[in-house]
Amino acid sequence: MALASRLIRLVCMLMLAGVTLPGFSARAATPGQAIEVVLTDDQAEVQLGPSMQSREDAGSRLDAQAAWASPAGDWHRQHNASINFGFSTSAWWTRVTLRNATGHDLERILDLGSSLLDHVDIHVLRPDGAQLQGMSSGDRLPFASRGENVRTIAMRLHIPAGQQVTVLMRLQSHDGLNEIITPRLYAPEAFTAHVQLETLAFGVYYGLLATVLLYNLFLYASTRQTIFGVYATYVGCFLLWGLVFRGYAFQYWWPDSPDFNNQALAIIVSALYMSLGLFLMKYLDTANSVSRKMHRFAAISTAAQGLCILPAFLNLYAATFIINSAIGSLEIMGLTAIITVLVVKKKSKAGRYAAGAFTTLSVAALLYYLRVLGFVPANALTDNLLQIGSAAEALLLAFGLADQMNTLKTEKLHAERQALAAQTALNTQLESLVSSRTAELEMANERLANLAITDELTGVYNRRQFNKDLAAAVALHTRHQTPAALCLLDVDHFKAYNDRYGHPAGDEVLRQIATALRQQLQRASDHVYRVGGEEFAILLDINEPPEKVERFIMQMLAAVHGLNIPHEGSPFGAVSVSMGLVILKARGASRTATELYSAADALLYQAKQAGRNQVISQTLD
Ligand code: GH3
Ligand code: MG
Ligand code: MG
Repeated sequence: MALASRLIRLVCMLMLAGVTLPGFSARAATPGQAIEVVLTDDQAEVQLGPSMQSREDAGSRLDAQAAWASPAGDWHRQHNASINFGFSTSAWWTRVTLRNATGHDLERILDLGSSLLDHVDIHVLRPDGAQLQGMSSGDRLPFASRGENVRTIAMRLHIPAGQQVTVLMRLQSHDGLNEIITPRLYAPEAFTAHVQLETLAFGVYYGLLATVLLYNLFLYASTRQTIFGVYATYVGCFLLWGLVFRGYAFQYWWPDSPDFNNQALAIIVSALYMSLGLFLMKYLDTANSVSRKMHRFAAISTAAQGLCILPAFLNLYAATFIINSAIGSLEIMGLTAIITVLVVKKKSKAGRYAAGAFTTLSVAALLYYLRVLGFVPANALTDNLLQIGSAAEALLLAFGLADQMNTLKTEKLHAERQALAAQTALNTQLESLVSSRTAELEMANERLANLAITDELTGVYNRRQFNKDLAAAVALHTRHQTPAALCLLDVDHFKAYNDRYGHPAGDEVLRQIATALRQQLQRASDHVYRVGGEEFAILLDINEPPEKVERFIMQMLAAVHGLNIPHEGSPFGAVSVSMGLVILKARGASRTATELYSAADALLYQAKQAGRNQVISQTLD
C-alpha cells in the first residue's frame, strides 16, 4: 500500500508537471540536529534544501510554537535541493537556522521556487522562540498575500547583525497533493537579477510558443487543414499550461481568484493531454497506419482525459490529478506503442519525428527526475528542464508537421505532373487518331466522289460528269469567248462484235478504247467520258486553230485503230470508231450545251453514214 501510494504521488507530481515517469520512493530522511546556515556578505544565492529538516504533522495538530518545541528526534534531514512531500494530507513542517555572520543587519529573499503550494506559513523565530516575522500565503489565498510581487512564493527576511534566526515553515496541501519546492536564499540584488533574467528567458520562451501558435492558426485559417488547427490547440494548451504552472497567470491574470487558478491548472493539464493525443493521432494517421485496436486505445484514453474536468470543477484537486495521471499514463503508453510500431515496422518518417519528440521529452523528464532526487544539481537550467524538453518536443512535432506538408506538396506536384503528362499523351494520341480518321474520311469521301463521277467499266468520267463539264465549258465560252471542242465517238459494228466474241470481250474492248483515248490526251483540262453503251465523248480545252484540233482527233481515231483488235464482223477487220467533232471558236457565238451536243451527234451520224471509221468535224463561228 505504501509503495502504491508513493507511486501514485510521484506520477501525480510529474503529471502536474506534464510528464509521465515511473514512480520512485523518496529518499529516507535521517534524524539530526537543527542545521545552521552561516550567512556572509559574499553569498548571492544559497540552496536551503540540503540544510533543511522536516517533520510530519499528521492531523495538523501543531501550531508554530508546538512545532518549534518538538524534540530533535522528530525532525529529519532533507538531502536534496528540492523538497517533495508528494501525496499526503498531513501538514509538513520544515526548519532551517540562519546565522548572520556579518557585523550588520542582512536582508535576504527566501524563494520557494514554486507558485503552486496550497498553504505556506513562514515564521522567522529568534533562538528564544519569539517571532520576528511571519507570512501566511499559498495559492489558495489571493496573490496579495505574498510578500514579493513575483510569480513564486517568496518572502523578504531581515536578519539582525550577528544574530541567529530559525525559518520555520508549515506546508499543507488543499486535499493531498503537495508541490515540489526548491527553497533558495538570495541577496536582494541577486534576487532582482534572477527575476529579471528569468522573466526575460520566459518572455522569449513564451514568445516563441506564441509565434508557433499564431503561425499554425494562420496556416489553419488559410489552408483549412484540421491538423494545423489541432496543432495550434496543442501549442495553445501547452502555452497556457506553462503560464498557469509557472504562476504567471495567477500573478497577472487572476490574482484574486485562487480557486479558479487551481481549477484552471487541472483543466489545462487535461486539455494538454487531450490535444497532444489528438494531434499525434492525426499526425501519425493512426486510423490507417496502425491496427484498429491500437487506434481505439489511443482514441479512448485521449478522450477519457475529459473525465478530469468534472472533479476539477468540484475543486477536487488531488482526485483530478490521480485520474489525469492514470489515464495519461495509459494514453502515453498507447501512443508510445504506436510510435514504436511506426518506427520499427513501418519505418515511418512521421513516426520518427514523434519518436524524436517523445525521446527529447523523456530525456528532459529523466534529468528533471534525477534533479529532484538530487543526482543532478538544481540550477536555473535543471529547474526548467521540463519546460525546455516539452518546448523541444512541441517544436520537433512542428518540424515533423512541416516536413509532412512538404512531402504531401511534393507528392501532389508529382501527381499533378504525371496527370498532366498522361493528359498530354492522351491528347496527342487523340489528335493523331482524329487526323488519321479525318484522312481516312477524306479518302473515303474522295472515293465516293470519284465513284459518283467515274464510269465503272472503263474508269473514265461518266455521263454525269460529262454533263457538268460540258455545261462549264459552254458557260466559259459564253462568258470569256474561250474556244472549246467536243468530240462524240461511237464504236463501229459493236453489236456484231458482241455477238461474235461475247459480251465480256466487248467490255474489254470498251476498256481498251477508253485507255487508248485517255493516253492521247495532253492537258490536265482535257477529258474522256463514257456517255452511253459504246459511246464516248472528248472535251478539249483548246487554244490552237481548228485544223490542229482536227489532226489531234484524227490521231485519236488512229490510236483506236492502232489497237488492232480483230473484228471479223467489221469491213475493216479490226475495231474502229466514228467521230463527230464540233469546235467552238474563240469569240464565237454563244451555244447551249444541248446545241453543241446535238451538233456533235449529228456529225457522228454523218460519219457513220459516210462509212464509219472516220471523223467529221465542223467549226462553229
Ligand atoms: P454502228 O456501227 O451503227 O454503231 O453499229 P453498232 O452495232 O455498234 O450499233 P448498235 O447501236 O446497233 O449496237 C450497239 C451495241 O453495243 C449493242 C450493245 O450490245 C452493245 N453495247 C452497249 N453497251 C455495251 C457494253 O457495256 N458492253 C458490251 N459488251 N456491249 C455493249
Ligand atoms: Mg451506238
Ligand atoms: Mg456503234
